[in-house]
Amino acid sequence: MNSKHDVLIIGGGPIGLSCAYYLLKAGRKVTILDANEIGKGSGSGNAGHIVPSHIIPLAAPGVVTSALKWMLNPAHSPFGLKIRADLKYISWLIQFAAACNEANVARALEPMKNLGQLSADNFAQMIAEEKFDCHYQTTGFLNLYKNQAAFEEGKHEADFMQKYGIPVSVYERNQIADVEPAVRDDVLGGVHFTGDAHLNPAIFLGLLGKHVRAMGAQVYEHTAVTGFASAGGKVRVVKTGTGEFEAQQVILAAGAWSPIVARDLRLKIPVQPARGYSLTASAIQNMPRQALILGDRRVAVSPFGNLLRVTGRLEVGEYSATPNPRWIARLEEFAREYIRLDEKLDIKETWAGLRPVTPDGMPIIGRSPHHSNLTVATGHAMLGLSLGPGTGQVVAELVNGRETAIDLTPFGMERF
Ligand SMILES: Cc1cc2nc3c(=O)[nH]c(=O)nc-3n(C[C@H](O)[C@H](O)[C@H](O)COP(=O)(O)OP(=O)(O)OC[C@H]3O[C@@H](n4cnc5c(N)ncnc54)[C@H](O)[C@@H]3O)c2cc1C
Repeated sequence: MNSKHDVLIIGGGPIGLSCAYYLLKAGRKVTILDANEIGKGSGSGNAGHIVPSHIIPLAAPGVVTSALKWMLNPAHSPFGLKIRADLKYISWLIQFAAACNEANVARALEPMKNLGQLSADNFAQMIAEEKFDCHYQTTGFLNLYKNQAAFEEGKHEADFMQKYGIPVSVYERNQIADVEPAVRDDVLGGVHFTGDAHLNPAIFLGLLGKHVRAMGAQVYEHTAVTGFASAGGKVRVVKTGTGEFEAQQVILAAGAWSPIVARDLRLKIPVQPARGYSLTASAIQNMPRQALILGDRRVAVSPFGNLLRVTGRLEVGEYSATPNPRWIARLEEFAREYIRLDEKLDIKETWAGLRPVTPDGMPIIGRSPHHSNLTVATGHAMLGLSLGPGTGQVVAELVNGRETAIDLTPFGMERF
C-alpha cells in the first residue's frame, strides 16, 4: 500500500485524537496510525484529572531530594527509577536533575498556565457540543494532608497559586469533612483547586475516537510506524509493517514511544517513559465527591459514577506497561489510609501506563526544525489528558498556517 493522505497522525492517544478532532473541525482530512488500538494506550486507565492548576512542571526545586529520600523507603515510595545502561537515558537523567531549579519553574509558569486554561476551556466546550457522557465533573481537585509539614507546604503553594490567578481554597481540620465527607478523621486539612475537573478517561477517549471516525478520520489500528524516508526538508514516506503512507503533513504524537518512532529523523526528542498504575473498582459506600490527591502518598482517587479509580507511582525509565500486583495492593492500602473505605474492594481492572516525560517537564509542541511538513506533539508527562484539547487546537492551527491561540515558542524542541 502506498496511499496519499492529507494529515497523517502517528499515535491515537489523548494527544493524537485531540489533534485529529481540531484538524477535522478545520476541514482537513485525517488519517491516524496506531501500533495498537486508538484510545487504549497510556490514557485510558489514568486518573482523568483536568488540572489547569498544574502550572509547576515536574522538574522543580526539591524534586531530586524528595526522590532520593523516597528511594530510601522503597516499599512506600511514590517514585522509582529503572537502572538502564543507555547513554540517552543517562543524559536525560542528568538534564532532568539540572532542570530542577527555580529558573525552570519561572520559565514554565506562564506557558503551562496558558495551555492548561485553553485546554480546560476546550474540554468544557467539546463535551457540551458533542454531548460526551463521560462523568465530566467540575468539582475541583482536592489535596488532602495527614502530615502537618506537608500541609504547611501545601498552603504555601496555595498562596503562590492564588497570586498567579489559580482559584484555590484552603480547608482546616474542622472544615474538611464538610467539603469531603469521605475523609478519615485524622486528615488535617486540604487544599482545593476549584477550577479543576475530572472525567472517566476510557469513556472520554472511546467517545472521541468514535467521533473522529464519524467526522471522517481513516483509522489504521495495529499499524506500527517503523521508519521514515525524508528528502528536500520534508518527510516523504511513513513506513509501517503493512505498507507505506505519503502525506502532506505528518504529526508525531506517539507519547513515550515518540523518540523510538522518530529515531531516523535526526530530531532531539528527549522523552523517557514514567510508568504508573491504576486500579478501578465498583463504587464504595463512601464515594468521594471530587478528585483527590492523598498528599504524602502522592496517590490519586477519582470517582467516576459507579466506579472508583485509584492511581499512582512514577517509575522513570520503565517501558513495560504491565501492572505490578505489589504496587496495586499498595494503592489500595494508601487509599484506605485517607478515605473511609472499610469494605472489601470489588476490583474490576488493574492497569499500567507510560507518561512521556521531558527533562524540563514541559511538553514538546512544534514544527520539526528539519522537516517543513512534520509537527511533534509529545512529552506531556502527567498532563497528557489534561492538555490534550489545548494541544489539539494549537497543532491544528500550526498545521493550517494560522496564528496559534497561545505562544508556542517555549514548547519548541529547539530548547534541547
Ligand atoms: C497512572 C497514571 C495516571 C495519570 N493521570 C493523569 C491525569 O489524571 N491527567 C492527565 O492529564 N494525565 C494523566 N496521566 C498522563 C497521561 O495518561 C499521558 O500524559 C497521556 O496518555 C499521553 O498522551 P499521548 O497521546 O501523548 O500518548 P499515549 O497515550 O501513550 O498514546 C500514544 C499512542 O501512540 C501509539 N504508538 C506507539 N508507538 C507507535 C508506533 N510505532 N506507531 C504508531 N503508533 C504508535 C500507542 O499505541 C498509543 O496509542 C497519567 C498517567 C499515568 C500512567
